[in-house]
Amino acid sequence: MNRFFRSALLALALCAPASAHAHNHDPVDTDWAIALHGGAGTLSREAMTPEREAEYTASLQAALDAGAAILAEGGTAEDAIVAVITILEDDPLFNAGRGAVLTWDGGISHDASIMLGDSRAAGATAGTSTVRHPILLAQEVMRDGRHVFLSGAGAEEFADRTELERMEPEWFITQPRVEALERYRANSTASLADDEHRYGTVGAVARDRHGNLAAGTSTGGMTGKRWDRIGDAPIIGAGTYADNRACAVSATGTGEYFIRANVASSICNLMRLTGMGPREAADNLMAEVAELGGSGGVIVVSPQGEAAFSFNTSGMYRGRANSEGLNEVAIFAEEGGE
Ligand code: ASP
Repeated sequence: MNRFFRSALLALALCAPASAHAHNHDPVDTDWAIALHGGAGTLSREAMTPEREAEYTASLQAALDAGAAILAEGGTAEDAIVAVITILEDDPLFNAGRGAVLTWDGGISHDASIMLGDSRAAGATAGTSTVRHPILLAQEVMRDGRHVFLSGAGAEEFADRTELERMEPEWFITQPRVEALERYRANSTASLADDEHRYGTVGAVARDRHGNLAAGTSTGGMTGKRWDRIGDAPIIGAGTYADNRACAVSATGTGEYFIRANVASSICNLMRLTGMGPREAADNLMAEVAELGGSGGVIVVSPQGEAAFSFNTSGMYRGRANSEGLNEVAIFAEEGGE
């Protein structure tokens, strides 16, 4: 199946006439659309109290509303996704900014990236621990334009040249993350891929009134990560991608597999070269991730303003809204629309 898709893609890329680029699915044209996620994983109803569910739902809704308001007023997709992500970075419920998961040594190591669909300008940072909003640092890298991807001490040094707000690394550390690390370290058989260790990454994708797409992702990575491990979130093409000709994508899940399947740009390529819709293209890539042994999910928005989710876990914190009145947040797989 996947081999078939690869060959089909290659054949189309090599010899397809321009007409093959037309979309053969049936999109609803919307003025603007936005989707967000707050991570995916094995989320069981038993482990989720009604109070906790209400907290998550309220947080997701507040972030979604902030992004939707910007788009409704004619603001850019870039501004909308940055607004969503900065709100979720400040929210300790999610694994980004404050409340990020901890490294093996108990430290903070943020990864973030952003990409714009019109220029395909992109910025990404990995392994920072003092920038309050890592997505804004990625945006500064993109605006500076000399490089796309900065890491570690160099990324901090670059941050020194900006006006961005800085915090002591301790400010980002929360008690639940300290306890999660203790559990992880006490269980020598736990793997980075254990579900408990990996939900909460945040991301957003949007299509604005001007027809431009943007995508961004921000995370603390995985509990107990070592050796300056970098996941998919800051890797353009793996965790984040935007191309006005195809789609905008943000991913969450076991990053190693998303890197190997080059998830975000592969979804866009499938859409662009085969005319596949966002849901179908996303399902294809999530099937590939599952086949390799990984799990997680993606959010996708198309140039026509379709906002789709695909995930192979029992839940994904997610939300979407558009100019036609769609506005929903959901957590478990059986909730929400298609
Ligand atoms: N994808 C992130 C990483 O691998 C983790 C997550 O999405 O929960 O760092």
